[in-house]
Amino acid sequence: MCVIGIKKLKISRTYIIITQNGWTMFMDNNKDTHLECPMMTEEGSEELYMYSLKKMAYDKADSEKIKLTNLFGLKAFFFRGNELLRHNPAQKFAVIEMNIYRFKTVNEFCGRAEGDKLLKFIADCFRSYESETCIAAHFRADIFAMCMPYKDADEIISVIDSIYKKLVEYKLPCRILPAFGVCMSEPGMDISLMCDYAAMAIDNIKGKVFSYYSFYENNMRDKMLYEKKIENEVGDAIKNGYIKVYVQPKVDMRTRKIIGGEALVRWIHPVEGMIYPDVFIPVFEKSGYIVDVDCFVWEQVFKHLQKWLDDGKQIVPVSLNVSRLHVHQENFTDFIMELAQKYRINPEMVPLEVTESALVEDTEVLYQNISYLQKQNFKFSMDDFGSGYSSLNMLKDEHVDEIKIDKAFIDDIDSEKSRIVVRNVINMIEELGIKLIAEGVETQKQADFLIKNGCFNAQGYYYYKPMPIEEFGELLL
Ligand code: C2E
Ligand code: CA
Ligand code: CA
Repeated sequence: MCVIGIKKLKISRTYIIITQNGWTMFMDNNKDTHLECPMMTEEGSEELYMYSLKKMAYDKADSEKIKLTNLFGLKAFFFRGNELLRHNPAQKFAVIEMNIYRFKTVNEFCGRAEGDKLLKFIADCFRSYESETCIAAHFRADIFAMCMPYKDADEIISVIDSIYKKLVEYKLPCRILPAFGVCMSEPGMDISLMCDYAAMAIDNIKGKVFSYYSFYENNMRDKMLYEKKIENEVGDAIKNGYIKVYVQPKVDMRTRKIIGGEALVRWIHPVEGMIYPDVFIPVFEKSGYIVDVDCFVWEQVFKHLQKWLDDGKQIVPVSLNVSRLHVHQENFTDFIMELAQKYRINPEMVPLEVTESALVEDTEVLYQNISYLQKQNFKFSMDDFGSGYSSLNMLKDEHVDEIKIDKAFIDDIDSEKSRIVVRNVINMIEELGIKLIAEGVETQKQADFLIKNGCFNAQGYYYYKPMPIEEFGELLL
């Protein structure tokens, strides 16, 4: 090779070596990379530089494959995906992102080796679609993605269906539940945004047992922005007194006498008005703020119970909702016991409601906490019984003092089958010697049915709606 000139590019440590045979050798003195391209003029050197950068990026992308699965990692996927979109402007592309619901349990139940084997299997499913215009990736743990060209949504669904089928048929002692989120490209979108949107679409199916895919829609973005907004505002909301405690009375349906109450949080927003917990609690659970909100609500309840006692009122138990995030916290037991001591309240006066779904996750710490608090005279109530995961196992242990039958059962009481279920649940719980209360009683007919079958306590709009805690105090004798 005869070198006839060397030029250093002004933007880098990079040299162009111009050779006699009409080719230009490109060299990076820092890295051992070079490529050859046709002879260029000096003006063309910047272009050459870009070309070489791209080549390096391609090389880097190739080298950044995930070891376990040999698929592209996140950065490489972003780079390659954006190149695909740029080079095929007339083609529609979709990003499919997938993760496995509770993949952690696969590792726990079946061992890490099985978990790795499964990941390799998933990778092969995704890899089988790879082509010039379709790339697959393994972002991390159980998160996989694909950027594929498509003509219509059915084409995307058929890819999802095919992967889904392979995964659910994969032989493992525990069931795999894959969830797919899809974002279809629109002008101006880049791959990383499409991945964000596909992930939002996945979020949208969490908790919906029978769906396994969801397409991103613009309202999901609005929802996410709204969630961010409430997350940002919660600190000030507590400080400024916008978070309020309401109490819904519980009654003995036979006498309509108030036998207790349940503390329910409300956010009285200065601009948006009342925001209900169904809107903000899931957001706070994601961010962990729920722990602060719970603590605030509990303290308000203790404070009011003490005040009512000081006023000579006959107090009734006011249940506290305990977020499932909370029950696993080590200091949860200390905090609640300190409150009971500080306000001199008998723990029996503040039954703790734990939702049924909390009772199936990492139960060990939870049971320890429950047992410990029960020894200190706290009572536990299983909330939303029958609404989600089966926790019949809990009933035969000593952890539950009260069951709250979920409103969904009471709503369906017109159907003969629901009546059979409710009647038998009442019998079973009575036989087990556990207290029972029905939630969401809205009509006389529902109340009559429950009383006739031996469930006497209820909480529902038919009797009282939730009211500010001060108003509840006025109802006490
Ligand atoms: P939950 O614990 O099951 O509370 C009962 C919910 O049912 C309350 O909704 C109550 O207003 C509603 N309800 C009661 N009777 C009826 C009825 O007859 N008809 C209808 N349609 N609804 C009825 P709310 O206050 O909106 O609370 C929703 C959920 O938010 C609660 O469900 C609970 O899971 C959670 N939550 C509320 N306050 C707190 C809190 O302070 N901490 C935590 N961690 N969660 C809370
Ligand atoms: Ca509750
Ligand atoms: Ca409930």
